[in-house]
Amino acid sequence: MITLLAWIGLVMGGELTDVRLFSGAGHARLLLIHTGEPTNIRTRSVPSIAGSDARGIVLLGDVSADGIDNRTLNEGGLLNLSITAVNNEAQVTVTMESARTVRAVTLSPGVILVDLIEEGRGEDPTLPSAEQLRGWLEGVSFAPQQVTTPRGYKLVVVDAGHGGWDHGAVGTTGTREADIALQLAHRVAIGLEAELGVEVLMTREDDTFIPLRERAAIANQAGADLFLSIHANAAPGPAAWGIETYSMDTASDGGAARVARRENVLARENGESEDALLIGKLLSDGTNRLSRELAIEIQDNVVSRLGEVYGAAVIRDLGAKTALFYVLVSTRMPAILFEASFVSNPEDEKKLRSPHFQQAEADAIVESVGRWLERQE
Ligand SMILES: [Zn+2]
Repeated sequence: MITLLAWIGLVMGGELTDVRLFSGAGHARLLLIHTGEPTNIRTRSVPSIAGSDARGIVLLGDVSADGIDNRTLNEGGLLNLSITAVNNEAQVTVTMESARTVRAVTLSPGVILVDLIEEGRGEDPTLPSAEQLRGWLEGVSFAPQQVTTPRGYKLVVVDAGHGGWDHGAVGTTGTREADIALQLAHRVAIGLEAELGVEVLMTREDDTFIPLRERAAIANQAGADLFLSIHANAAPGPAAWGIETYSMDTASDGGAARVARRENVLARENGESEDALLIGKLLSDGTNRLSRELAIEIQDNVVSRLGEVYGAAVIRDLGAKTALFYVLVSTRMPAILFEASFVSNPEDEKKLRSPHFQQAEADAIVESVGRWLERQE
């Protein structure tokens, strides 16, 4: 699932860059992720009048909202999300089956937490708490690099994206990115152990929520040799499809740091700027080169192997790309992020659900990792 953010420190005003929804019983939480400092944050609750839907509205001053598309929610009593820009103000509107109180507070720098609570009900305790959400958004501290003792084997961390209440992108027939990621990650893990004889550590083995910082920390603490993050892709419309693989980009774009906020990514911790995160990783040029090599190897191999099986016309190569993803920036070993195909495209979604397709992707990834490891012997 893609969310990209151009982070330009000197821009006046801010931009709404992503909206995340967690819905429960009579209670939903929205995260409004933004740059800059919104002014004059206001909320409004509009009851259903003359057949119109009830609405919860949040207004953010000095914030633009060009990058966010309207969405159908149809979840937990919520109907649609629309985002409009009026004058210098972003208006986030959620239409709902019945009126709710609307509350908005700053959760952490760059994130506003909105609660929509059905009248006469309390908060749903099964929804993530503010503290859990903060943990989910925050980054990893850059402790001094650990000295790893040489091992007689390679250790690969396989990271299935999302999980638990973070179900990632959802396809048109209800396919959850978190489920596809886990199935594919299991296949990759099994293949790595069986074919390459490497040790594998999975960041999650079931449908559990694991914060991003913990995923990176698991790999860092274990002194892993490689970090493979497995995801399925999504776009606002059904048109986008294909396979892509990411490694981290350290290239400075004309002096302006570009931070890609993808998946549920926020590269910002209390008092720790994106710069600090970047510096942490920029120190390791060799790691970045190796990551890039592996991303290319995996992308080319997956596309060509799947093309042989399914026909080149139904496998689309979106290429090996670079971006600053949280898990890639925060891990201290070569790391790639694989986007298996788009759950938001009906044909891709069918493929992603196919055990045969998943296995073909997993086999190609394992083969590529094997070649990549061999080159380093
Ligand atoms: Zn994802």
